[in-house]
Amino acid sequence: MRILITNDDGIYSPGIAALAEVATAFGEVRVVAPNVEMSSAAHSITASRPLEYKRARIKFGNGVDAYAVNGTPADCVALGAHQWDGVDLVLSGVNLGSNLGNAIWHSGTLAGAKQGALLGCRGIALSTPVDDDRPEPDFAQLKPWIEEVLEFLVPAKELKLVNVNLPAHEPRGVLWTRQSVRHYDGRVVAGKDPMGRSHWWFTVVPVEHVEEGTDRWAIEQGYVSMTPLRLDLTDEEQLAEAQARRPADRLSFV
Ligand code: MN
Repeated sequence: MRILITNDDGIYSPGIAALAEVATAFGEVRVVAPNVEMSSAAHSITASRPLEYKRARIKFGNGVDAYAVNGTPADCVALGAHQWDGVDLVLSGVNLGSNLGNAIWHSGTLAGAKQGALLGCRGIALSTPVDDDRPEPDFAQLKPWIEEVLEFLVPAKELKLVNVNLPAHEPRGVLWTRQSVRHYDGRVVAGKDPMGRSHWWFTVVPVEHVEEGTDRWAIEQGYVSMTPLRLDLTDEEQLAEAQARRPADRLSFV
């Protein structure tokens, strides 16, 4: 099995080193990741300039080949799969910061896995929270859990895209979850730069409580969260209702 690994924290992140090390037990591994941090890049692709890659300046364990790309996580997966025939699985992460609920829309980590799924491979994104008390996760403690999750998910070929989050402390177990959808306030905070020019920071504060059974709930309860995702965002219920209530052949566009 050929496993392509990427992330959005950049190729020098300890998270991708930990993931690559664990992944070598499951197949042939190659790392292709952004040369700088690309967090919150979502599924953007580089279309206005050429991409290039260089062999990474750091060594990965177990003789894994690693390449740094001047592009986004989605670029890395597209280029990596082009340069390496027969990629079966894309792993993305381990992100330093959880990717729960609405973060799935902004996440470059998720996009790396999603790009794999779009290319017809399978994709698994992995993330873990960080905060001021724990700026770098304890990967020695997390690695056995990453291994357990992969042992579980890698043979499950029907799962094309899975979002995995690992809690900050020793997990209580592993749960299937659904994506939480917490709306946020979208508050923008204005400030001034040293030259006196205005600038703005996008700060988001959730406006709803955590719902049981969701990814965010599982992490708060201390479990590893595994959310199967799909590429098709169609709201089936609304589609059926719209077709019944407002048949499109009777709409007039004037
Ligand atoms: Mn990141």
